[in-house]
Amino acid sequence: MRFLAVALSRQKKQMIISMKLHSTKQEVDAVCQRISEFGYKIHAIEGEERVVIGAVGTGDTTNHLESLEAMPQVEKAVRISAPYKFVSKEFKKSKTVISLRTHTGTVDIGGDEFVVMAGPCSVESEKQIIECAETVAAAGGTVLRGGAFKPRTSPYDFQGLEAEGLKLLAKAREITGLAIITEVMADKDVDLVAEYADVLQIGARNMQNFALLKSLGRCGRPIMLKRGLSSTIKELLMSAEYIVAHGNPNVMLCERGIRTFETETRNTCDISAVPVLNELTHLPVVIDPSHAVGNRKLVPPLARAAVAIGADGIIVETHPCPEKAWSDGAQSLTFEQWRTMMKDLAPYIALWKASRVGEPVLA
Ligand code: PEP
Ligand code: MN
Repeated sequence: MRFLAVALSRQKKQMIISMKLHSTKQEVDAVCQRISEFGYKIHAIEGEERVVIGAVGTGDTTNHLESLEAMPQVEKAVRISAPYKFVSKEFKKSKTVISLRTHTGTVDIGGDEFVVMAGPCSVESEKQIIECAETVAAAGGTVLRGGAFKPRTSPYDFQGLEAEGLKLLAKAREITGLAIITEVMADKDVDLVAEYADVLQIGARNMQNFALLKSLGRCGRPIMLKRGLSSTIKELLMSAEYIVAHGNPNVMLCERGIRTFETETRNTCDISAVPVLNELTHLPVVIDPSHAVGNRKLVPPLARAAVAIGADGIIVETHPCPEKAWSDGAQSLTFEQWRTMMKDLAPYIALWKASRVGEPVLA
């Protein structure tokens, strides 16, 4: 997919123009020329067999759509009604697949594989992160999580090993081959984190840090965008739109629990966000049961629910000694619990996989 990044401005309208199958480059160019004459900016062109053109501009869209549809090479020209454009299903029907290199080859998030990302809340030491990585890989995890930059409620709590933590993560990748996901909290650290991480995590508290979101557009790495503590699904999609509109189409979304009146769990996992998002967007969706419930005992059942509801994966916290963890110990699985959870999830994941690839799910 080729993306031509152009700045978006207020009150612009967007349309997508779907070309007829096997249109030639000249035909696509002719349509692009007409779109430009109408004063629209071409924002994205994608597709091999069928080219789809995204365009942003102002003016009388209805007239423009009609004249574009009158061109013989154009199959369809439609206005995108959702406030989020590039992340909407109206723009792209096929699911976005984010491919990462791991010890098993590649893992396709949003594809035919249920991705399991796991590791400690924070990177604490070389011994800790390598032990975690080996344990994660041995039980079937493919992505290692670990925070080097930590968003903490209290300024007196551990804030992360920062650059040293990133180096330790890279070492763990070197040893195990796992892909690495880690959080970036500030605009100024995007390049540094992107140097080490395979996926950049945007934490719940930064979901609407628009300066940060904009700078992710050019970071060259896939992003996992976590839903804000009190954010709606639409706000989550608008934040994802920022990243995609600024040039980075490789975004996955993460439901990690939202604030409600309920106090028995740390947050309330909005499990229905998964099918809702699957209706609205082509971006992959994962669930973080650890931050959702805040209690390690409740993580495995929620992980099962994530598989059953059709999420593309999960991200969970595990630690060699949770009671001594520097952050989020209460919700971190012991290694034993992690292994048991993975064993118990296997038949559910097999069903998930069968339904993804269209096989009959029941014998
Ligand atoms: C984390 O993943 O450790 C984290 C801080 O997550 P969230 O942003 O969802 O609270
Ligand atoms: Mn955590």
